[in-house]
This record gives sequence, C-alpha cells and structure tokens, in this order.
Amino acid sequence: MSKNKSSESVKVVVRCRPLNQKDESNGPAGGIVQMDLRLGQVILRNPRAPASEPQKTFTFDAVYDANSKQRDLYDESVRPLIDSVLAGFNGTIFAYGQTGTGKTYTMQGVWMDPEKRGVIPNAFDHIFTHISRSQSDKQYLVRASYLEIYLEEIRDLLDPKHGSTRGLELRENPESGVYVRDLTSCVCKSIKEIEEVMNMGNQARAVGATDMNEHSSRSHALFLITVECSQPGPDGRKHIRVGRLNLVDLAGSERQAKTGVQGERLKEAAKINLSLSALGNVISALADGRSGHVPYRDSKLTRLLQDSLGGNAKTVMVATLGPASQHYDETLTTLRYANRAKNIQNQPRVNEDPKDALLREFQMEIARLRAQLNHRRWRSKQKREQADGDGWDEDAEGEEDMVEKEAEDYVKLEEQRLEMEKEAIRGDQFMLAEEKQRLLGEKERMMGDLRKEQEATEQLTAKYKAMESKLLVGGKNIIDHTNEQQKMLEMKRQEIAEQTRKEREIQQQVLIQDEETLELRETFTSLQQEVEAKTKKLKKLYAKLQCIKAEIQDVNDEHVRSRQELEQTQNELTRELKFKYLIIENFIPPEEKNKIMNRLTFDPEEDQWRFHKSLQMKKRPTSAVGYKRPISQYARVAIAMGANSRYRAENIMFLELDMTPPHTTSLDRSLEADLNQSHSLDSSPTKERVVRKSQSW
Ligand code: ADP
Ligand code: MG
Repeated sequence: MSKNKSSESVKVVVRCRPLNQKDESNGPAGGIVQMDLRLGQVILRNPRAPASEPQKTFTFDAVYDANSKQRDLYDESVRPLIDSVLAGFNGTIFAYGQTGTGKTYTMQGVWMDPEKRGVIPNAFDHIFTHISRSQSDKQYLVRASYLEIYLEEIRDLLDPKHGSTRGLELRENPESGVYVRDLTSCVCKSIKEIEEVMNMGNQARAVGATDMNEHSSRSHALFLITVECSQPGPDGRKHIRVGRLNLVDLAGSERQAKTGVQGERLKEAAKINLSLSALGNVISALADGRSGHVPYRDSKLTRLLQDSLGGNAKTVMVATLGPASQHYDETLTTLRYANRAKNIQNQPRVNEDPKDALLREFQMEIARLRAQLNHRRWRSKQKREQADGDGWDEDAEGEEDMVEKEAEDYVKLEEQRLEMEKEAIRGDQFMLAEEKQRLLGEKERMMGDLRKEQEATEQLTAKYKAMESKLLVGGKNIIDHTNEQQKMLEMKRQEIAEQTRKEREIQQQVLIQDEETLELRETFTSLQQEVEAKTKKLKKLYAKLQCIKAEIQDVNDEHVRSRQELEQTQNELTRELKFKYLIIENFIPPEEKNKIMNRLTFDPEEDQWRFHKSLQMKKRPTSAVGYKRPISQYARVAIAMGANSRYRAENIMFLELDMTPPHTTSLDRSLEADLNQSHSLDSSPTKERVVRKSQSW
C-alpha cells in the first residue's frame, strides 16, 4: 500500500455558485462564467472588453456549475481523498475564493438538509461508516481539533478560555511535521460526538465575533481529524497507520482595503492579507519549480499547510467563484491562483507506526489496566476459595460480566458473614467487654477494607471500560445504515463518480493530443488545400498568440497593482517606524535604551522579539513602610532624631488641635468700648461665629 517516493499533483476543482438576487440587482443580469462539465473547463467573459476579445479558458480536474449537487462534488472529488486518509495518508481540502462565493457552503453546507450537507458532514459520515464496515481485527481511534487563525494568531476553538489566552504556538518535529502546541483534541466515538465537537467550535467562533460574516471572511478555520488504525501485520504484531485530515475554510480572498486606514486598522488589514499573500507566494514558488526557496515561514497558515503544499499529503483545492459581472477581477484572480496550484507536486506516503501514535498509548494503558484488574480478581478469587473451601470453579477467564457479578455476590456474602459474626460476638455472654470491643473493632475494620477493595476494583473497571470504549473496533454496528442495499447503492454511486472522472481525464488528454498530432496526420493532395489548412492553423495560432499577449498584459497590470499596494504599505509602515524612532530617540535615555536592547533576543519560531528570561528586571522598591513615598536612610535617621522638620516626609506642620481651655484677659477700656460699639453695629451671626471660632484656637 505504501507508495514511497511517488508524487502526485494537487487536485484543483472549481465551483460556481448560482446568481442571487443581490448580484442581479447590482449589475447587469447574466453571469460571466460558463462551464464545460465534460471537459472540466471554465470559460470567463470579460464584461468590459469588446466582443471580439477572446474569452479566457481554464482547465481543471473538475468543475461544478450552479446546478451541481453537494453529493456530486463529494463523491467525485473528495471521497478518494478521505479513503486515502483512512488508509494512512495525510489529506487536505481547502476552499479558496472571494467572500460570499460558497466556501462555507461547500465545506459545511446546510447541516439539517441531507441534500445540502457539505464536505465536512459527509466526511464524518464516510469515516464512521468505513470503520463500522471494516474487519473486526482493526481498531480505530478518531480525534478532532478545531482552530482558527485570526490576525496571525492561532486560537483553539475547543478551549473555552480561548478568547482570554494568548495565541497558540507552532512547533515542528521531523515525524509529524508542523503541529500546534497544546491544541485541544477530542476523542470521538461516533458521528454525533464529532458533530458536537464541530458545533462547539462553531459557537466559540461566533461568540468572539461581533459580526459573524465579517469575522469569518477575515479568519481561516481549520478542522483537523486524525484517524489512527491498528491492524495485525503478517509478522503478527499490530501496526498503526495514522491519517490526518485538514478541512480548511480560508478567509475571503479579496484584498482587505488598505487605502485610507491607519494605525491599528492598517496593521490588521496587513495581517489579514499576509496569510493569503504568503499562501499565494508559496503556491507560485512551488508551481514555478525553479526557485529553491519556498517561503513557508512567512505566515502561520502556510506553515500549518506546509505538508499539504509540496509535502507529505494529498491535497484538493476547491476554488469558489461567483457568476456576477461586477466581480470579474476577483474571479479572474481566483482562477489564476487555482490554475497555478495545479502544478504543485506532493509526495504523499502512508504514515506507518509513528512514535507519537495515541492509539499505541491507549493500547498499552488498556493492557496495563486489564492486567491490574485480572490480578485483583485473581486475589479475590483466592480469598473466596479459602473461605469456601474450594467450592468455586475456575471460570475466571469466562465472561467478564459474570466474573464481575460473582465478585459482587462474594462481597455481599462476605459482608453478611461479617455482620453475623459481629452479632455472635455481641451475643456472647462469656466474653469480656474489652475483648468484645476489640473483636468488634477488628471486624469493623475488615468490613471497611472489603468495601475499599471493592471500590478500588469498581474504579479500575470503570476506567478500563472508559478507555476501551474510546477505541472503535471494526465490524460493529456503530451506525445503522449498513444494510446491503444501501451499501450497493453507495458503491454504484462511487463507480459512477470514478467513471465520470476517468472520462473527463481522457477527454482532456484527447484534446491535448489532437492539437499536437494535427499536423502529423495531415497529408495534402494539392497546394491549394495545403494553403487553406495552413491558413486555418495560422489563424488558430494567431488567436492563441493574442490570448497569451492579453494574458501577459493582464499579469503585468496585476503585478504593477500589487507592487503599488505593497509600496504604499511600506511607506505607511516606514512612517510609523519613524514616529516610534522619534519617541525613542527623544524620550528614552540612551543607557535605558541600551539596557532594554541587551535583554532582547529574536525568536525565529514565533517571529517575535522576546525579553531574556534569566535577566529579570530588578523589582521596584516598595514605599518605605508607614510613609507615602520612599525616603533615604539619612532622612529616616534625621526624623528619628527629630532634628530638622525638612526631613519629615509628610505633615511638615503640626496641626494638632490646641485643647487648652479658653482664658480671658482684661482689656484696655478704650478697646472694650470699641468692641462694644462694633458689636452693636454689626450683630450678624457670621461675625459671631468667626469670633467664637477664633477663640477655640
Ligand atoms: P463564503 O463562505 O465563501 O463567504 P458562503 O458559503 O457563506 O460564502 O455563501 C454565501 C451564500 O451563497 C450563502 O447564502 C450560501 O447558501 C449561498 N451559496 C453558496 N454556494 C451555493 C451553491 N453552490 N448553491 C446554492 N447556494 C449557494
Ligand atoms: Mg464563509
């Protein structure tokens, strides 16, 4: 089964969604996309070009028009990939296209409507049906994770705290490639469970977003399924194959507007564009085949999809289009992108017996628990035999449930026996009270031990059963649509899909061969005929030349446009950088700046600067105890000496109340008269209060 060193190209299919009311109200009616389903061709008409301009034609592995069914796309283009994943290959399906063209519709669809269920629910069905129909010597373990990349941060959608924690980190190991550290993964035993996982993630995605459509068009969602399968090989040992499936719903491919935005918004737009333009660069570098360096490290998305693009995986890309004429430019860009991706070569191979297979760990843990349980049972059986004088038969290896029931019965009997013995001790009149107490205590302890023992066994059994139930064994009915008729129907559908695919491939080959061999087959009877034929061919080639010229012009224009955009971004970022420099140069003392610079190191994994862990900054001193501000030792001594009030940190003036009783002194006669006069003239209560108040001083 293992196909080492074989390479295969990325499969690219294109899907066009039906025209909707919005399209019709916004632009002239009628789509600009035509499809030839038999040949797998998309023909695009430029609504602004004169009618004489030739239309653009692109050929893909398959095309799906507005009337296509979800089921057709799945059977023809996705089913073979999922089968490979079940056989131990890595597989990736990603949906690429402008917002609103049906990426989410293709990947998820309408869950409740069996006709409109997308790739993901169909894949769930497929995986679990396959497991239930496989041979009973196969054991499976299915795990699912769900994450999204938003503003270049990876968020775990199955972790309830995902909103509050920092983004997850990417790591790489030689065996399983790039992976996300600490990503939650849920073991799923059935379609229902894996659907619940999906729902949970979808809800988590929606909670963080104020506008779900807006959010989903700016973030990439990745649903990861790992299927591990263990099967005894010819050498008698169990071999494990691990297939990893990435189901990716990318952010909208339209460029986020950068004109007129600044600061945070600019950075945000730059980050959103980053992953997609990095993806474009990776695809170009791979498709080109000449450039040695593939810039996987430029973004989180490309690093995560590293294996899927030019590595150990089988990949299907679904490019989605809208038929509306106002989106001509975007549609053309999508088609070009998809056309380039066709040339990427992958080297898929079966992942056999990887070291980090979880299934192996599970099997070992189950074996350990089983051994422990058997030991316990053996011990209790021994005790039983001692108690009953060998009255029990050795059927320990019989049905586990029987053994369990026997153990329960034994515990009950033993409890009854101990209870009876206790009664007997209580009733014994010849025994001393102390002796009675001691014996009763002992029996009590024995009962306690027995119960503890039973509890421990129960816990162990529960753990064992829980672990074992997570492993799915082939041949068991985990879903009930395994009846023969349905199976036949499915097989027929698969055959038809396979047939259609082959037919299309042959048609495409015939077309290419036709063009090549045309001249070889031609024999001319007369000069006139030859001239005619050659003129016809010349016309054809001339048209082709015009097409290619137009294409070159288009690509050049696009190149200039994106270059201008990049230059603009660069200018804005340089301006921001200058602003930061200005602040640093003018407001941060050089020695402080140097201190900070010395502590910084660059982490290439995370593409970020980090502070040295070892050189922790000294802690700021806490305020002097009892004082509001820190004060020097000298000042503290000075305060203690009471020498100089300037060292008092606060309350420099003593403003305590003077509590000495008021006293009177005899005044001058003349002064007294004055006072009386003023009192009689002005007897306002305020004045009185002022006087009284001053007295208290
Ligand atoms: P995207 O995820 O690319 O932004 P959606 O999947 O949300 O786009 O699709 C936008 C709308 O178009 C949805 O209402 C969806 O139901 C509809 N739609 C997309 N593709 C199809 C299709 N092939 N057939 C019918 N409706 C479709
Ligand atoms: Mg979407």
